[in-house]
Amino acid sequence: MAGRLHTRRQIVKVLAFARRPELLAFLPAVTLAAFWMGGEEALVLTALCVPIVYALAGVLGASPAGEMVLPGVDPVTGLPLRDAAIERLDSALAADPLQGGGTACLALLLDDADTLARHHGHAGFAEILRQTGARITGALRRQDIVCRLDGAAFAVALGPLQRADLETVLQTAARVQEAVEVAISLDATTVHVTASLGFCLAGRAPEPGGAALLEAAMAAMDDANYNGPGAIRAYTTELNRRRTDLAELRRDLGPALDAGEVQAFFQPQLSTDTGAITGFETLVRWVHPERGVLAPSEFLPGILASGLSDRLGEVMLTGALRALRTWERDGHRIPSVAVNFSAEELRNPRLPDKIQWELDRFSLSPDRLTVEIREAVMREGADEVIVQGIARIAGMGCRIDLDEFGVGPASVVNIRRFSVGRIKIGRAFVASIHEDRAQQRTVAAILSLTEQLGLDSLAVGVETTGEHAMLAQLGCGHVQGFAIARPMPAEDAGAWIAAHGRQRDPALPLGRRQV
Ligand code: C2E
Ligand code: CA
Repeated sequence: MAGRLHTRRQIVKVLAFARRPELLAFLPAVTLAAFWMGGEEALVLTALCVPIVYALAGVLGASPAGEMVLPGVDPVTGLPLRDAAIERLDSALAADPLQGGGTACLALLLDDADTLARHHGHAGFAEILRQTGARITGALRRQDIVCRLDGAAFAVALGPLQRADLETVLQTAARVQEAVEVAISLDATTVHVTASLGFCLAGRAPEPGGAALLEAAMAAMDDANYNGPGAIRAYTTELNRRRTDLAELRRDLGPALDAGEVQAFFQPQLSTDTGAITGFETLVRWVHPERGVLAPSEFLPGILASGLSDRLGEVMLTGALRALRTWERDGHRIPSVAVNFSAEELRNPRLPDKIQWELDRFSLSPDRLTVEIREAVMREGADEVIVQGIARIAGMGCRIDLDEFGVGPASVVNIRRFSVGRIKIGRAFVASIHEDRAQQRTVAAILSLTEQLGLDSLAVGVETTGEHAMLAQLGCGHVQGFAIARPMPAEDAGAWIAAHGRQRDPALPLGRRQV
């Protein structure tokens, strides 16, 4: 197999050389020389062979990058394609396992490949793929085959192994991942990539044959990617079922959006000072006709992958503003409703105009909308279009919440740059805060930073009254979580607002303790 690949690459080189334009200038001289040296026969032979070489080169064509394309070989990385992996796995599976015929298939995917491609352009991304392919190859033995799959994915078919057990393959997977994750030099910059890796041992795939083994490794790779970045996962039969489910769900997402099954749910946010409702967070739910209410983790990745995030954004924004209007009509004035926006949506330069248009449509002032931005979006080097878009949205008068504060690299500079008005402290810092001194110290430090910066604060994931009370004592401005209410449809939220108003005694705030 390795020999055949080497020959293929040599042919590509010869043909590419033959197609160079400067060689065409020598064509008459070559024909004349052939006639002088070999007479009429040589002349006829040259006249016949030269068009054949060019025809062959033409048939094989050239890639958009101008490189030669040979069937079965990836022009970017020079690696064989998917069929070669299947061929190698088939032959390893056919070998007698007692004579060292055990094998396994690994599948590797560069994490966040879209961002890499956007940041480094076509040529830069091609170079990242080329170096990744070379590194995977370098981490393996001669008898293992590395192939390029679609996009930023690679497959490895391991040649016969003495011991094809979980431990050995896991070690190989970790070695490959380590090799890929060494920083890549690209022109004047250094690129840090991470890779998600899945694998399947021979005999563990749901069906016999190399193709099924590769498919199983890819299912494990998708699972690793979902749990990533930088995760490694082995194939299990449960994964296969989940993959089919996911594929089905993904297929149904577009029609579900059209049919109004993807809906805005609302979770209240309370002031720790007064107990009053200060807002609601809008959270997406898929009210599936057969499967019930699905959480975003089950379909949000599908929405992003299917390019439907703008449509989701429209549904959520309209749903949020309509709910605010309806509650108001029923006599409940809620200060603001918060909507989550993904990086994909924020990258849309028309988003600020769309928001303004929707606010006008519902006759709401911009401060009635809070835009939630995940901290990860603010990482160094966020697209200029995102920065400008958020600046315009803040300039219009919308409020900006920094979601998941403390888990990413948000800097004070970014908090200023993105006109953040409030930070949201994640569940990780809130859990058991009433009985955990370390949590209390961390949250106290975060709150003192927010106070110094003149920002408001909100703790999410508050599950107990103990956590609620401690957060109030520490000086956290607002709370949101199951202890108060779970996310619910707009109508239920209306009823909840009414009940909360009846129940609340404004004379009994939870009170604050200065830290
Ligand atoms: P997030 O923005 O951090 O939202 C808070 C999540 O915490 C929600 O999960 C909410 O249901 C959950 N939560 C609320 N209270 C508690 C609690 O007391 N305990 C625990 N353990 N969890 C609590 P959900 O609704 O599953 O949303 C998950 C994530 O999906 C959100 O995290 C957000 O990043 C994303 N998401 C949800 N809706 C949208 C949307 O409309 N657009 C976009 N782009 N992303 C969304
Ligand atoms: Ca959020």
